[in-house]
Amino acid sequence: MHTLKIHNPATGALITELPADDAASVAAKAQRSRAAQPAWAATPLAQRKACIARFRAALTQQVETLAATLTSEVGKPIRQSRNEVNGLLARIDFFLEQIEPSTASETVFSDGAMTERIAHEPLGVIANISAWNYPYFVGGNVFVPALLAGNAVLYKPSEFAALTGLHIGRLLHESGVPAEVFVPLIGAGDVGAALLAQDIAGVFFTGSHATGAKIAATMGPRLVKLQLELGGKDPSYVCDDADPLAAAESLADGAMYNTGQSCCSVERIYVHERIHDAFVDAFVATVRGFKLGDPLDEATYLGAITRAPQLDVLQAQVADAVAKGARLAIGGQRIEQPGNWFEPTVFTEVNHTMALMREESFGPIIGIQKVTGDDEALALMNDSRYGLTAGVYTPDEARAQRLLARVTAGSVYWNCCDRVSPRLPWSGVGDSGIGLTLSTYGIQTFTRPKAWHLRRG
Ligand code: NAD
Repeated sequence: MHTLKIHNPATGALITELPADDAASVAAKAQRSRAAQPAWAATPLAQRKACIARFRAALTQQVETLAATLTSEVGKPIRQSRNEVNGLLARIDFFLEQIEPSTASETVFSDGAMTERIAHEPLGVIANISAWNYPYFVGGNVFVPALLAGNAVLYKPSEFAALTGLHIGRLLHESGVPAEVFVPLIGAGDVGAALLAQDIAGVFFTGSHATGAKIAATMGPRLVKLQLELGGKDPSYVCDDADPLAAAESLADGAMYNTGQSCCSVERIYVHERIHDAFVDAFVATVRGFKLGDPLDEATYLGAITRAPQLDVLQAQVADAVAKGARLAIGGQRIEQPGNWFEPTVFTEVNHTMALMREESFGPIIGIQKVTGDDEALALMNDSRYGLTAGVYTPDEARAQRLLARVTAGSVYWNCCDRVSPRLPWSGVGDSGIGLTLSTYGIQTFTRPKAWHLRRG
């Protein structure tokens, strides 16, 4: 039998060993889902909504257990795990509110003889391949609207968040979603690859650019719907009229929350030379105040690095930055203790020859670059193959609007960062991906708009 070992990244200890899927079990489950999906699509929307409402209630009742499991397998500080489970509730509320108006049939023309109508049909059986860093968010952005719209979901949680994936499956099934309509598939990349080989109507992937590109190459000839939500190297610019203290506190949180392992973590900061030194002092002081340690401790802000190989990526970025003349303001070392640990790390005097300013770091490490003005900041912000989010700090709204309109990114922020709203589309430009989730567009993406041409007589 195939198994998947689950380790606690904060201690290195083995938590458990799960029975895992293989190519044959994935094929059998996909076949059962295809058989079950039409009945789910034919179930009245009110019943599908009732299932998701029960799932929401179960999340609130079991938040402590769910948060503890998430913390144990990804090393996320417990308060942030709780925030994530609770954060899914607002997204579910949005989807429950908007599913009907977003997917109702719409007559767009009628002159008595001819009527034209758009109807939203579910895609069918879809693949939901997920990352580990926010499993409730990135999974829920797909499976909640997809199920509401009448699809069946083959859900491949990350191998680093498989226990959470099983919790999600259990709760959905207990809430009335049939076992064949929401199907967790347990395993690593080989199970994801086996899922892609099935007769599926769409692939909704969240993960790294490297895996996303591989999936795009595999799926290219198949002509099924493909959405890829990938990484980022998200910049923020602090203008000379900004309050350096307030900006530093906001951006330190944006860079270090979830131990820097967010797709929309702030990964590059540009600061106007006039306030650069004051900003750096405040930023470093804020980072010094973050408590690193046992993720189960309520006071902990910085937890473990979830995947051990990422420590090498962080160490290589540090070595490269130091070799190219960056100044280390704080941190810079892996912490030698059981589990995967890295010091919060801040560099100044950085530039775009350094991997730190070009490649996704996905850890508690940040470069702060001094700039002479808006044009230089804008050119640097856009000097990236990624384009997930970007932000500007200034009290001057017109200045922010001018800058943000010229930034190439799926989401832009004025005086804030690292923020996702269910009401707004979540998408990336360039190597940050294709397609979108959230907002009413992120509901309709799980449907096929069918055009009806109806002539009387
Ligand atoms: P990853 O690419 O390593 O894995 C993602 C998923 O793909 C996992 O479930 C994995 O098992 C599966 N997989 C691996 N190889 C596969 C293959 N050949 N075929 C099919 N599936 C395969 O990414 P990760 O480490 O889990 O996640 C971190 C990355 O995700 C970061 O780059 C982060 O920026 C990105 N991310 C993006 C968003 C977004 O909304 N844009 C959100 C969260 C995370």
